Order: sequence, then C-alpha cells, then structure tokens
Amino acid sequence: MRLFCAFLMVIVSFWQPLRASALGDEIYKSVHWDPAQLASGSPCLLTVEFQSPPASFQGEWFGHQVSFFPSRSRTVWYALAGVDVETTAGTYKLTLHATMPDGKSVDATRDITIASAHYKQVELHVAENFVEPDAAALKRIAEDSEIKHQAFAKSAPEPLWRGGFLLPVQSPATDSFGTRRLFNGKLASIHRGMDFRAASGTAVHAANSGRVILARSLFYEGNCVVIDHGQQFMTIYMHLSKIKVSEGQNVHAYQLLGLSGSTGRATGPHLHFAVRWQSAYLDPAILFKMKLPPTP
Ligand SMILES: [Zn+2]
Repeated sequence: MRLFCAFLMVIVSFWQPLRASALGDEIYKSVHWDPAQLASGSPCLLTVEFQSPPASFQGEWFGHQVSFFPSRSRTVWYALAGVDVETTAGTYKLTLHATMPDGKSVDATRDITIASAHYKQVELHVAENFVEPDAAALKRIAEDSEIKHQAFAKSAPEPLWRGGFLLPVQSPATDSFGTRRLFNGKLASIHRGMDFRAASGTAVHAANSGRVILARSLFYEGNCVVIDHGQQFMTIYMHLSKIKVSEGQNVHAYQLLGLSGSTGRATGPHLHFAVRWQSAYLDPAILFKMKLPPTP
C-alpha cells in the first residue's frame, strides 16, 4: 500500500506541470523577445501573443514583476524590460501569468538564455573626496540614497513613453557602458550609463515622454534629472550645469530638461545618460535602435 501511494504521488507530481504547460500552450500563441540574442546589459521588448485576449496579464523575471500593456485588440501584450549589466551569463526563467475572462489563470514559462557581454576596464582620476568621502560627504551620500529610493518607487503603472527613445544630446557618445572602472587606482565600480562628450551648456533633452520624478543636486550625480517612462522604466541625466524642469512635471519626448555640465563626480563636462528598469541598468545604445510598438 505504501509503495502504491508513493507511486501515485510520483504520477501526480509529474502530471501537474505537464497539464499546466499543455493548457498554457493552448492559450499562449507565441512568446518572443527583441533583441533575440540577449546579453548582460540588454534592454528587451517582451512580446506575448494569445489565442484569445486575457483579462489581465503579468510576468516575473529575475525576481522582478514584469508589467505588460496590451495592444488595441488585447491579444498581443508587450513589456519593456531588460537584463542588468551585472547579470552572469546563463539561462533564466520568464514566468507568465494570464487571467482569462472566465477567471481561470493560465501560467507558462520560457527559458531565456543570457550571453555574457565583454566590457572594458579603465582607470580614472577624480578629486580624492569622491574616492574616500569624508563624514559630511558620507552623510550626504546616505541622504541621496534615500531620496533616489523614494523617487524610483514612484513609477506609473502604465507606459508613459511614446515610440522609440531619442538621443538626449546632439553630441558624440562614447562606448563606455558596462566599463569596469578604477577610480584613482582604488575604488572599482561599473559604469552603468553612456557618456556623451557635450561641452558645458549643451541642451539636454528627454529621451522620451514621461514624468520628472527627481530633479535636484546629488553628491555623485551632481545636478540630476530622472524621468519615469512608466512600468518601472526610467532614464537618468547627470552632471548638469542647470536643471530646467521640476519634480512632478510631465514632459514630452525631446523636451529640454537642462544644460550639460560637470557637477558631481565627473572628470570633465559631459552628459552621463542611464537607462534603468526595476533596479537593472541597461545599455542605451541598444535601446536607441529598438523599434517599439504603440502604447495605449
Ligand atoms: Zn558616465
């Protein structure tokens, strides 16, 4: 009898996932991601097509909730997401949860392979106080951290972006995203953005439409603007000499945000531009090339 029970449990435990995936495949027509080859630091558009429109739909990836938005027909759902620059190469599970109009929930999973991106290592020289901050600087850094934490929590539940992302300045960009950096030979950090060689006073524009969730002076970032594009997708503009927007303000794509400069931890005048999804930092160069679907 005990043997029979054990046998039955084995049958049941195998039966459950099989049944779930068979049911999932009836509802899910296709799941794909762009770029098709993902590496650490890649932004990513997830596209899920259904046989019939679900009432609601969301996902989970890298331990983050993935918010999707529907096409007009509601049979195709999209999410703008990404793979953090520090993610190690490997296969990661994307979990999808759809709730159908009859209340039935249908889950599916897909294995997504992340390749490793090869980033350079450079040595930089900045003022000593940015490498070994004194007590006053440490206090300011801790306060900044709380300010940023609160700002990042203010993302809109719906997408605020419209169409593709635009270059924020008319200046050449350096190939610096993901670079491992040594400051004055000591502190190692990863460069989580793209630097544009912009002379001080160059107009800095919003890469897409959204809402200003931070516009103030910070220790490392200098005069900094953060735009929320909704569903945890944000762009960040650092080291500005002047800020021309205020917190809470809605901005349209390419609206003037401020003027470039060298405030904060900067080796000279430039714009540091970063793309953030959840807590992941993504390569802007890939984002600028992505063709994005219409948002509701
Ligand atoms: Zn930078």
